[in-house]
Amino acid sequence: MTVFEHKGKLLIVDCGVLFPEETQPGINVILPDFSSLRDRLQDIEAIVLTHGHEDHIGGVPYLLRERKDIPVIGSQLTLAFVTAKLEEHRITPRLIEVKEGQRRKAGPFDLEFLAVNHSIPDGLAVAIRTEAGLVLVTGDFKMDQFPLDNRLTDLPGFARLGEEGVDLFLTDSTNAEVPGFTVTEEDIRPAIDAVFRTAPRRIIVSSFASHVHRIQQVIDAAARHNRKVAFVGRSMVRNMGIAEKLGFLQVPKGLLVDVKAFDRMKDDKVVLICTGSQGEPMAALARMANREHTIKIGEGDTVLLASSLIPGNENSIYRVINGLTRWGANVVHKGNAKVHVSGHASAGELVYCYNIVKPKNVLPYHGEWRHLKANADLAIRTGVAEDQVLIAEDGVVIDLVDGVAKITGRVPAELVFVHGMTVGGGGSEEALADRVQLSNDGAVTILGILDTRTGLLTEPVEFIARGFVQDNEWIQGATKSIDDALRAANKVKIVNGAELEDIFTQSLTRWMQRKYRRIPVITSVVVDA
Ligand SMILES: [Zn+2]
Ligand SMILES: [Zn+2]
Repeated sequence: MTVFEHKGKLLIVDCGVLFPEETQPGINVILPDFSSLRDRLQDIEAIVLTHGHEDHIGGVPYLLRERKDIPVIGSQLTLAFVTAKLEEHRITPRLIEVKEGQRRKAGPFDLEFLAVNHSIPDGLAVAIRTEAGLVLVTGDFKMDQFPLDNRLTDLPGFARLGEEGVDLFLTDSTNAEVPGFTVTEEDIRPAIDAVFRTAPRRIIVSSFASHVHRIQQVIDAAARHNRKVAFVGRSMVRNMGIAEKLGFLQVPKGLLVDVKAFDRMKDDKVVLICTGSQGEPMAALARMANREHTIKIGEGDTVLLASSLIPGNENSIYRVINGLTRWGANVVHKGNAKVHVSGHASAGELVYCYNIVKPKNVLPYHGEWRHLKANADLAIRTGVAEDQVLIAEDGVVIDLVDGVAKITGRVPAELVFVHGMTVGGGGSEEALADRVQLSNDGAVTILGILDTRTGLLTEPVEFIARGFVQDNEWIQGATKSIDDALRAANKVKIVNGAELEDIFTQSLTRWMQRKYRRIPVITSVVVDA
């Protein structure tokens, strides 16, 4: 999520989510931090969405919960995807549909939209003109010269804006470390064809539910090789229905069937397309790998993982691949066949853009620090002055004044966790830290009954442990560490229950650390006799 401010008004570009890693147990998604916007909701003129990927639209329902009538600007497909998502949250958005080549005002922001090519159709870059200057935001993009939908990234438009003078250029950094040019989507057709030519039985394809181009390739291959196709999984069925209805996905008549019809069809005549290419445990593919799905994987089935491998998901994906292989499937993935190309511009394309746009200031965005740094280096190599290339983490504030961009401050930008129905709230980072500690080392509760007149326990403390093995040696040692702490405390004064709880927790923590080099979540409860 990027927020632009001019004359006291705000324009938001994209509002996505992050997906949790294995170190963030129990988290569904991670939202941008809206806290610096909360007092300014009425100043927001619009949200502009560059394209329909989750990392760009997934946070919109949560932002609209704060103010329902913020206008949402985007292309036809992007708005269709976000509307379907908002329906699940029972929110009816105020939509403004735009196309490449169009200009429109949002308060003091004069917006122009340009076509960009990416792994989802109908992506837009946005140029923002204000009295403070001209900003160009690429969104996610690449420069595929043979895209399936013949919609090229609008380089003439980039060049025209460059002539006008781009004061600040925000460019996609995802593949800035990758040399050369991202190859065309067309290049993977032979590999997909090879799978279809040689698969003896069923073909099961797993991809992102938004990867319309890739799924188009699979549908084309199915038509060429005389197989019927079924979609499986809620988001896949929903998104492909939308894409087909709006004409972004071309499906030959009679090609699609319900998955139930597979029972009556020959195995070498069917293709199933589902989600789960990132090893998500609840998605269809992981359930097939665990034999928990109605589709039972067997000898001779071919599974095609036609997508990227997002860093951090490796373990889950390999778990799924192992599961599928164990049941006899042949698994084809980007590690053993050319079945994936990236949706993001590589270094060559980025350099090309810098030379065309000739920006005064550059803000590499969309990527981790190493990607931002690699992208910054590219900009500098093309001649952008080093101090006019800003590497900014989330929350950093940049001022653009008289053609010069400078880092001038910071707003809160915590990770806001969505956990079931709970969104963020105080202590959500601490709750997560507790959860990690619980999963590593378990929990111990200490129970004690205190005689308030003497400051002594009426009977020995009791321990309740979860996810932690207590043996006699442990109980003796722990009891002694607590008795010692109580004796030491009583030498100073007679303690009360609350003080004693702190003393117990601290002394057991210290003892555990010393003796076992691990610290469970320790809670003490002391009641007065
Ligand atoms: Zn994207
Ligand atoms: Zn993205």
